[in-house]
Amino acid sequence: GKSRSHLANTLRLLQLPPSVQDHVIAGTLTAGHARALLAVKDPDTVARRVIEDGMTVREVEALAAGEQTGTGPRPGRPRKAAIEKDADTRALERRLESSNREVTKLRDHMEQVRRDAMTDALTNLANRKSFDEALERHCDSDEGKNITLAVLDIDHFKRFNDTWGHQTGDQVLRYVASVLSRIGRAPRMAARYGGEEFAMIFPSENMAVVERLLNEARQEIASRVLKRRSTNEDLGTITISVGIAERDYGEDAYDLLDRADKALYQSKNNGR
Ligand code: C2E
Repeated sequence: GKSRSHLANTLRLLQLPPSVQDHVIAGTLTAGHARALLAVKDPDTVARRVIEDGMTVREVEALAAGEQTGTGPRPGRPRKAAIEKDADTRALERRLESSNREVTKLRDHMEQVRRDAMTDALTNLANRKSFDEALERHCDSDEGKNITLAVLDIDHFKRFNDTWGHQTGDQVLRYVASVLSRIGRAPRMAARYGGEEFAMIFPSENMAVVERLLNEARQEIASRVLKRRSTNEDLGTITISVGIAERDYGEDAYDLLDRADKALYQSKNNGR
C-alpha cells in the first residue's frame, strides 16, 4: 500500500517541470511544496518564490486556488490571449479577402480600360491604334510571312450623312462593321480605321481568297435595304469599295498599308 502510493506520488511529481523535479530530488523543495506546485499555472516561477522568498505550502495552495477561481483561466475556456489571437487572425483573413477582391476588381477594371483603349466604341471593332499595332506585329514577326491586308470604305458616306443625319450615319457604320466583324474573326482582324474607313488583316490567306471573301461581303452589303429607325423611311442601299494588297517578302507595315490604300483609290475611281 504505502510504496504504491509513494510511487503514484512520484509519478505525479514527474508532471512538474524538470527543474522543479531537480529541487525535489536535491531537497530544496519539500514533497508538500511539490504537490502544491502541481496545481499552479507556472510551477517554475512559483518554485523560485518558494526557494527565494520562503513561500509556504499554504500560500502556494492559496495561489493555485486563486488562479482557478479568480480572473485566471478556467478549464474549457480559451484564454484571453487565444481569443485575441483568433480575432486578429479573423481580421487579417477578412482584410486579405477584401484586398483580394480589390485586386480582382482592379484587374478587371484594368482589362476593361485596356479593351476600351483598343476598341472603337461605336462599332466595337478594333480601333486604329490596335490595328496598327497588330499589323506591325505581323510584319515584324516573320520576313516571309504572307499576310493580306484590306482597306475598305463606305462610298459617298458624307453625302449619306448630310442627307440623313449623323445618327443614321452611325447606324450604317455599325451595320458595315457587323458584316466585317463576321468575316474578320480571329486570327483575322477587322478594325475601324477612321471615319467611314475600315481595315482588315488576313494573316494566312492569299490575295485571291481575300478578294472572294470581300466580294461576297460587298454584295451582301449592297443588297441590304436599310431603314431609318426613327421614321421607317427607306435609306436605300449603300456600297463599299475595297483595296487589297498581299505582303511582299520583307515588306514593312507602312509600305503594305500604302499599297492597299492605292488599290482602294483605284477601285474608287473605277467603280462606286
Ligand atoms: P442593332 O440595332 O443593335 O441590331 C443588332 C442586330 O439585331 C442586327 O444585326 C440584326 O441581326 C438584329 N436586328 C435589329 N433590328 C432588326 C430589324 O428591325 N430587323 C431584323 N431583321 N433584324 C434586326 P445587323 O443586321 O448586323 O446590324 C448591326 C447594326 O447595324 C444594328 O445594330 C444597327 O445599328 C445597324 N443597322 C442594321 N440594319 C439597319 C437598318 O436597316 N437601319 C438602321 N438604322 N440601322 C441598321
